[in-house]
Amino acid sequence: MKLPTLTGEVDTSELGITLMHEHLMVLSDGVPEAFPHAYDLDAIVEDVVRQVRQVIRHGVRTMVDLSVLGLGRRISLMQRIAAQVPEVNFIVATGLYTYNELPHYFQNRDIDHMAEMFVRDIRQGIQGTGVRAAVLKCATDEPGVTPGVEKVLRAVARAHLQTGVPIYTHTHAGTRRGLEQQRIFQEEGVDLSRVVIGHSGDSEDLGYLIALIENGSYVGMDRFGLYHHEAMPIFPTFEGRVRTVAELCKRGYAERIILSHDCCGFIDWFPMEVVRQLAPRWSYTHIFEDVIPALREQGVTEAQVQQMLVENPRRFFEGGAS
Ligand SMILES: [Zn+2]
Repeated sequence: MKLPTLTGEVDTSELGITLMHEHLMVLSDGVPEAFPHAYDLDAIVEDVVRQVRQVIRHGVRTMVDLSVLGLGRRISLMQRIAAQVPEVNFIVATGLYTYNELPHYFQNRDIDHMAEMFVRDIRQGIQGTGVRAAVLKCATDEPGVTPGVEKVLRAVARAHLQTGVPIYTHTHAGTRRGLEQQRIFQEEGVDLSRVVIGHSGDSEDLGYLIALIENGSYVGMDRFGLYHHEAMPIFPTFEGRVRTVAELCKRGYAERIILSHDCCGFIDWFPMEVVRQLAPRWSYTHIFEDVIPALREQGVTEAQVQQMLVENPRRFFEGGAS
């Protein structure tokens, strides 16, 4: 099966080692347009290229960028980065990232109108570039399924049903938001095996994680590099994140685990020096340098690592084969 990327198409049999939840850059919607002097976009592109190139020596063939509206997605900048790293396939997303309110545009238009926008990104291309989205993104955070969030979840589900493109979510795992997402998707008729419940690795509650898996979805253990800090108290420690993945593997769930970093080569939410200080191990290569060795020490096999990094991404995109 062919998937669109930033630079063409890739066959799902050739995805290889895939980082399923990363960001080349995260921008506050509208701020770079309003205050362009605050951004040196050329320098940002150059720095992200330098960071992304680090994955090549670890054999990474594909990176999925889950930036959408709400995270300042700019395909033209992402294309500039991808053109300089031809060794890697970059898959991009459509959808909407909000914890509560919708942009005014969507507040007074219905679910199907929003779904049509997502379908257009999937069938025709994004922002006039011809680059098509191959994954749908939505979010539920601590405020829960507010009216705005519910509209997004249902629009994403409907765009998925029309196109077959799979869904990757953001959740606040501490409040078990993934279960609500699964309920809404199920109401819309979505096969839950086409869904990754993202940021599940922020929880060490095995009962919750196994419930998500038993309902049919993948769990995104996708924030390796973001660890407990007094400024970020919701995150587990390195040891905690590793232990949880190892325990799920031991119980036979490697087929439902996705590994990634949610790393942002650039993010404007904080000054970058603060980001580096809060999360010094957050990079596109941390899983290969530190996490896999720690998992192997805890009994995770090479076959299970391959399952999580190669087989599960391929099956998620292909569908049907679960
Ligand atoms: Zn993310």
